[in-house]
Formats: sequence, C-alpha cells, structure tokens
Amino acid sequence: MTKPRALIIGGSVGGLFAAHLLDSIGWDVDVFERVDDDLASRGAGIGTHPVLREIMRRLGLSIDNSIVVVTSSYICRDRTGRLILELPTPRMMSAWSPLYRALRDNLRRARYHRGKDCLEVRPAGSSVTAVFADGSLATGDLLVAADGIRSTVRSQFLPDVKPTYAGYVAWRALVSERDVAPATRAVLEREYLFCVPEGELALCYAVPARDGGTCLGHRDYNLVWYRPADEAALAKLCTDPQGRQYDGSIAPPLIRAEVIADLRQFARAELPPPMFDVVDRTEQPFFQAIHDLASPRVVFGRVAVLGDAAFVARPHVGAGVTKAALDALCLVEAISGAGGDLDVALARYDRERCRFGDWIVGRGRDLGASIGVRARTEGQVGQVELDRRAAVAMGGYAANAEELARLTADGRPPSRAETGCDTGP
Ligand SMILES: Cc1cc2nc3c(=O)[nH]c(=O)nc-3n(C[C@H](O)[C@H](O)[C@H](O)COP(=O)(O)OP(=O)(O)OC[C@H]3O[C@@H](n4cnc5c(N)ncnc54)[C@H](O)[C@@H]3O)c2cc1C
Repeated sequence: MTKPRALIIGGSVGGLFAAHLLDSIGWDVDVFERVDDDLASRGAGIGTHPVLREIMRRLGLSIDNSIVVVTSSYICRDRTGRLILELPTPRMMSAWSPLYRALRDNLRRARYHRGKDCLEVRPAGSSVTAVFADGSLATGDLLVAADGIRSTVRSQFLPDVKPTYAGYVAWRALVSERDVAPATRAVLEREYLFCVPEGELALCYAVPARDGGTCLGHRDYNLVWYRPADEAALAKLCTDPQGRQYDGSIAPPLIRAEVIADLRQFARAELPPPMFDVVDRTEQPFFQAIHDLASPRVVFGRVAVLGDAAFVARPHVGAGVTKAALDALCLVEAISGAGGDLDVALARYDRERCRFGDWIVGRGRDLGASIGVRARTEGQVGQVELDRRAAVAMGGYAANAEELARLTADGRPPSRAETGCDTGP
C-alpha cells in the first residue's frame, strides 16, 4: 500500500516538527524551504518548557544539559541596580542553533529540499499541489503550511489576515560572557535580570554561546529591550544611511549609526549598569518589530496551517517554538485518532489550534500591555508607583512561565481552574 504523502512548506522549526511527527506515523514527507542556506545561524536564546522537552524526547531528540543554561529566579532591578523584587522562577534557556540542528540533522526518511519557494497552492479534491518559483510542482494528500508570519499559503486563503504591529520593537543585544566587565558578569552569571523603565521592559539573561558553550564563563548574555515606536518612528528606524526606507524591518548592518548611538545613550540613562554594558559591548544591536497574528481558520481543504503562519504571540510569552511543536503534535494525533478520515482529523486540528492560538495571542497582548503606557507629564510617576509597575510586569512573566510549565502535550490551554487566573479560555 502506498503511504499518504505530506508536503511541508517551510523548513524551520515548525516544518521540522511536522516532518518528524508525520514520518513517525508512516507518512511520506517532503519539506520545501525557500532559503538556500542553512538556517542554524538564526536567532539566539529560546526558552524551553517541559512540554517541548517531552515532544523532543518522543522524537528521540533530547534537550539535555549540554544545550541549556539554567537559571532559578527572576530578579527585577531599577536603573541604579537597586533590587526591587526576586521571584523564584526556574528557567531553562536553550538556543536556536542546537534545537534547529537536532531537528534538521536527524530527519530520518523525510526529504528536505532547499531553495524551493512556494508561490501558490492548488487544492483539488482530496489532493493538493504546490507550485514553486523554479517551475516545479509537487502533489500530496496533505499540505502543511509552516511558512512563518508572512505565510504565502495563509495569504492565499485568508488575504485579509495580516500581522498587526503592536506599536513597539524589541531591541536585541548579544555578547560573550568573556567580553563584559567583571561587575557585569558578577550579576548576570546568576541573575535572569528584569528592568522596567516607564513604558518599556528589558530582560537580560545567559544563553548557550553561539559556539555551543554552556559552561560558566563560556556562555552569551542575551538582552531583549522592548521600546515603544509608533508607525512614524518605526519607519525612521527602518531607513538606511542612504535614506532608503524598508517596510517594517531592516537588515542589522543597514541600521544607521546614529540610531545605535541613541540606543546606547538611552541604555546608559535607563538601564542598570550590567544591561547597559551588554548593549554597549554588542557590536551590532538590532531590532524586530513586534506583531500579533491570529487566524480565524487554520484548515482549508487538505491544507493545514501551523506555527507562526497560523498564530503569532508576542515574544513575551517565550513559546513560539513550543507552540509550533504542539501544533505539529496536535495534527498527527488528530490524524492517528481519526481512523483514516483525514477530513475529520483536520476539522479537529482546526478547532483545537484556533482555541489554543487565540489563548496564547491574548497572553502575549496581556504581557505587553504596559509597553508604551507613559504618564503625560514628566516626573508624574513616583518611585513607589514605578516599583509597583515593575513588580507587576515581572510577576506576569513569572506567572506565564509557571503556567507554560504546566502545559501538557495535548496542547490545550490550561483551564482557569488550573491556573486560577483570568487569562485562560
Ligand atoms: C524577539 C523574538 C524572541 C523570541 N523568543 C522566543 C523564545 O524565547 N522561545 C520561543 O519558543 N520562541 C521565540 N520566538 C519565536 C520563534 O522564533 C518562532 O515562533 C518560531 O521560529 C516559529 O517557527 P515557524 O517554523 O512557525 O516559523 P519560522 O521560524 O518563521 O519559519 C518559517 C520558514 O518558512 C520559510 N518560508 C517562508 N515562505 C516560504 C515559501 N513561500 N516557500 C518555502 N518556504 C518558505 C522561511 O524561510 C522560514 O524558514 C521569538 C521571536 C522573536 C521575534
């Protein structure tokens, strides 16, 4: 009997989880990735959760201590370094490269095709054909769209669903533990550090180094600093030294020198010394505009949309990779549980992932709600109020981490009864 065939568009983490899991239930799988190069050099720290480690284990790919950095508490300080609050919150930070590598290098039977840009999908009853920019076609029983936030496939079926800009950007800085000042290292060696300037939020923590090092002294420090930027300010940030303006993002080397100089100046004024040091010593800080994306449907005939192509929660949630893994797991469990009826399986996938996606996008909005909220008059907000806001913001992160630690592999959002909070469904 011939195996059913799945076409997966997008060969990043979402596509790779889908490939492993569909292969494990006997499907013939082809992954088509637009980018011709290796994707291992993308990104920096990736927060892991027990359910992600559980899914990796099921695939025979463990997230062991050699690829994680463990921290035990969230610690909030003001710009002088004064301690505001400490909350015990165990975290295991891994990095993009080892996770992606483990998924990519251990594909068993699934075939991975690079440089394949999917332009269009043609559904035809119980099959579906993908059309690629090089003129080639591929036909399968199921097409999984794992092609990210700007998904070509989703746009074909839901042309009006577009990422919504949240009104702020995340500045990123990454520096080797070896290259910071001793006083910086003394703090960041142990602390998962928060700082909450009015209307902003900054986090800084150790992650595995770009060369894979996880031992003390050989890791990297990763800083994420959320700063408001309205549409006009974003357009300015996205303008290169020649005055050319890019749409919503700009390649890091094209960011103007004065933008980086301003960033360093603001970091000196607003962030505690260890965070400023990380910004100051990072050769090429860069930013990403923050978006929300929620799809009203994720199934279109024999097409299932997954990962960031379907829903994007703001990175405060720190679970984009986990969500992509849970989507893929839900898909294969729905297929396995439907006794061969793919339409029934896909209807279940659609229902469950829309529910989960709406929940997690809402969670991201809640965690980012204070960013950009500032008093209109300078000096209006007193220290006590600033400390209270900082404690609330970090408390939200701690509650989120605790809740995600309780997520189970069925990928359902935790119920209100389990979480005791109002953000559950
Ligand atoms: C600032 C920031 C911090 C983050 N921190 C975390 C974190 O701590 N933890 C975490 O879990 N997640 C985090 N994330 C999110 C995480 O990176 C994403 O959720 C995750 O990469 C989604 O995987 P994906 O496979 O769905 O999409 P993507 O990783 O975006 O991959 C989509 C792939 O599809 C390919 N593609 C696109 N179009 C086509 C086409 N037409 N044909 C063929 N291929 C195509 C692309 O080249 C790409 O490889 C963060 C994101 C940001 C912005």
